[in-house]
Amino acid sequence: MANKIPRVPVREQDPKVRATNFEEVCYGYNVEEAQLEASRCLNCKNPRCVAACPVSVKIPQFISEVAAGDFSRAAEIIAEDSSLPAVCGRVCPQETQCEGSCILGIKSEPVAIGKLERFVADWSRENGGVKPVVAPANGHKVAVIGSGPAGLACASDLAKLGYDVTIFEALHRAGGVLEYGIPEFRLPKDKVVAAEIASVKALGVKIETNVIAGRTITVDSLFDEEGFEAVFIGSGAGLPRFMNIPGEHYNGVFSANEFLTRNNLMKAYRSDYDTPIRTGDKVVVVGGGNVAMDAARTALRLGAETTIVYRRTEKELPARVEEVHHAKEEGIQFAMLTNPVEVLGDENGWVRAVRCIRMELGEPDESGRRSPVEVPGSEFEIETNTVIMSLGTSPNPLIAKTTAGLETTRRGCLIADENGATTRPGVFAGGDAVTGAATVILAMGAGRQAAAAIDRYIQSL
Ligand code: FAD
Ligand code: SF4
Repeated sequence: MANKIPRVPVREQDPKVRATNFEEVCYGYNVEEAQLEASRCLNCKNPRCVAACPVSVKIPQFISEVAAGDFSRAAEIIAEDSSLPAVCGRVCPQETQCEGSCILGIKSEPVAIGKLERFVADWSRENGGVKPVVAPANGHKVAVIGSGPAGLACASDLAKLGYDVTIFEALHRAGGVLEYGIPEFRLPKDKVVAAEIASVKALGVKIETNVIAGRTITVDSLFDEEGFEAVFIGSGAGLPRFMNIPGEHYNGVFSANEFLTRNNLMKAYRSDYDTPIRTGDKVVVVGGGNVAMDAARTALRLGAETTIVYRRTEKELPARVEEVHHAKEEGIQFAMLTNPVEVLGDENGWVRAVRCIRMELGEPDESGRRSPVEVPGSEFEIETNTVIMSLGTSPNPLIAKTTAGLETTRRGCLIADENGATTRPGVFAGGDAVTGAATVILAMGAGRQAAAAIDRYIQSL
């Protein structure tokens, strides 16, 4: 029986070696491994994996093509629903989505859907890619603000329907968090991100970088001066939060966003770039999400002894289990049930330590998680040269502030219905700008929903 075959393990760089370089941690499957893993799939009639995928990739169909050795057809099947398969195969939290619902997971291990998607996408890229299938031009123009997964997914679907789509991106490179946030060792920029963006462009999508909506252009100018009939806002949630504790002004305190942007977008880790980055010998990262893991693993690769400080226990860590596992393997220290109360500086204004307090878990809060409570009198210091705050982010208010009729929640997220329609007619939104910080695939799903709604909206005008 196919499902008696154990899940095929994936090869990875040795933890000791990879802790000193920025090359990709995971090597992915080769042809034999991919075909063996694909042969485990039961090709279910009512596939639970597809129902759990926010962009509804036809999982059993593409996997059976892998098993049969037709990787080109497998790539075409994925391309019908996903414009970023090599990205999603690498960074999606499959354990809570497709793989979390795979029928094989009930009694043994689920099919490695993510690794198979990655294999197909990489094979396809190395063998000429999928030929773009685009409807004839329909004469309608749509603007997309932001080139992250939400904007790219929305733009791709509209371009396939024949729309003339332009993406306006504030930064000098497209990709959003894929480009500036997620590190090279998890998601290679030139090999994977730029290549997938090139296939979005191959559908006819135009991307204008260095354009800030709310400054260089406005939503109104896109309608009134540039003739766009609908606008999709996928501007993400890039505004970092701080703790508001004393000492956060010292030199050496970064937000995780700034620290990662310097490394990923501005290539501070490479000797052929001038971007300054400073870690010193010791780094403390505050927070327990994926972003905290990325910041810590980056600091480690820059040569610092790195400690993650988190106020709950390992059980409550919001980061993916795989990321925590990788971080531990590489030698990141974890200080659990610990919360900073003050950053301490030296006479020159540089960080020298963080004063922390021990925590214990009390009653569950509204999120259902037990709230951390301070243990009185338990303060202690952790010596460090750098503190990286990774406490979550929220949407930048610029676009909402400069666009009449666009309403936001109290937390600054754009208000949009399940189709992405905002409170202003013709303006749609999706991804982190609406939900707050979430995931690549949810942002892509929102982009696709909005593309379908924009099509209905324009056709009804
Ligand atoms: P973004 O990716 O944030 O893209 C928004 C884009 O809009 C940006 O390029 C921004 O420059 C641009 N923009 C903003 N304002 C303007 C403006 N005024 N004018 C023009 N352009 C503008 N998710 C996962 O699924 N798996 C992971 O492993 C994972 N790891 C992560 C690691 C890090 C470090 C971070 C920060 C996030 C991670 N996420 C992960 C979350 C995921 O990346 C985001 O949920 C996703 O990128 C959101 O997509 P988006 O398109 O809504 O926004
Ligand atoms: Fe294959 Fe699992 Fe999906 Fe069934 S649920 S089709 S076994 S991947």
